[in-house]
Amino acid sequence: AKSEGRGTYRFFEAKMGVEVRERRLLEHDLRHAVARGEMQLVYQPQTEVGSGAVIGFEALLRWKHPERGYVSPALFIPIAEESDAILQIGEWVLREACREAASWPQPLSIAVNVSAVQIHSSHFVGLVHEVLLKTGLAPHRLEVEVTETALISDPSRALLTLRQLKALGLRIAMDDFGTGYSSLSNLRSFPFDKIKIDGSFVRSVDSNEQTAAIVRSVLGLGRGLGLPVLAEGVETDAELGFLIAEQCHEAQGYLMGRPSPIGQFTQYTHGTIPF
Ligand code: C2E
Ligand code: CA
Ligand code: CA
Ligand code: CA
Repeated sequence: AKSEGRGTYRFFEAKMGVEVRERRLLEHDLRHAVARGEMQLVYQPQTEVGSGAVIGFEALLRWKHPERGYVSPALFIPIAEESDAILQIGEWVLREACREAASWPQPLSIAVNVSAVQIHSSHFVGLVHEVLLKTGLAPHRLEVEVTETALISDPSRALLTLRQLKALGLRIAMDDFGTGYSSLSNLRSFPFDKIKIDGSFVRSVDSNEQTAAIVRSVLGLGRGLGLPVLAEGVETDAELGFLIAEQCHEAQGYLMGRPSPIGQFTQYTHGTIPF
């Protein structure tokens, strides 16, 4: 039994070695991914629940690795964050998304995900300012999505950054609300303009009473604080029906549109649909 135990240990050790090696390989490739043109953005529509009108798009990053094919951002973003490669990648995302959105009809907004490392970088506010000037995108059309987790390591510094970003005229959305280090005090402490309810609460909201109660209370919270609420991950008509009945403001999910190259959405971005 003893030797068996040791064998198991060696197995895990070896497995861990492979994972560490994998990470290092990905980390190395990530450093060159932007320069090699392997990164691309896809866009997912965000709609007004009442009218169904598209009001903007969230930019989502895709990495096409030359040998591995598409690598999920859920896998490579954390690696990029640990190695600081996220700063270069995040800058590319911001430039690309703002350049793209600047050509859209006026009311359409662009939401860009920003990681903790970017928020805590001393260059970030200056970078956003420069990108807005260079692309000519009106600042109120840019929405930055941050998670609560991105704020907690150094809340006073994060608050300063968010205030400086707001002073530029852009909007700030709290992403993934309800997951991770959620705390209601964050809603009071930071200058958010929108709450995004995580998809895990939206799924089955029509069939699960507990989930429904949670979503209802977040909507009430939004109303009380005067903040619009966007429900993420809407996949079914029944989920959307619940959101309509409960007067959720905005929605996003496969039901309204999958994240796709922007060419898929030219009816919106070329203004052929009246707003
Ligand atoms: P997120 O910001 O919460 O983005 C929402 C995720 O849910 C996206 O996954 C999107 O494709 C997916 N999604 C949208 N609608 C539905 C739906 O109806 N059902 C289901 N099951 N999923 C849906 P994706 O694109 O794989 O991105 C994963 C995460 O990676 C993002 O979560 C975000 O945290 C991060 N990420 C993506 N792009 C960027 C980026 O440019 N910068 C940073 N820092 N993080 C990014
Ligand atoms: Ca997001
Ligand atoms: Ca989210
Ligand atoms: Ca997320």
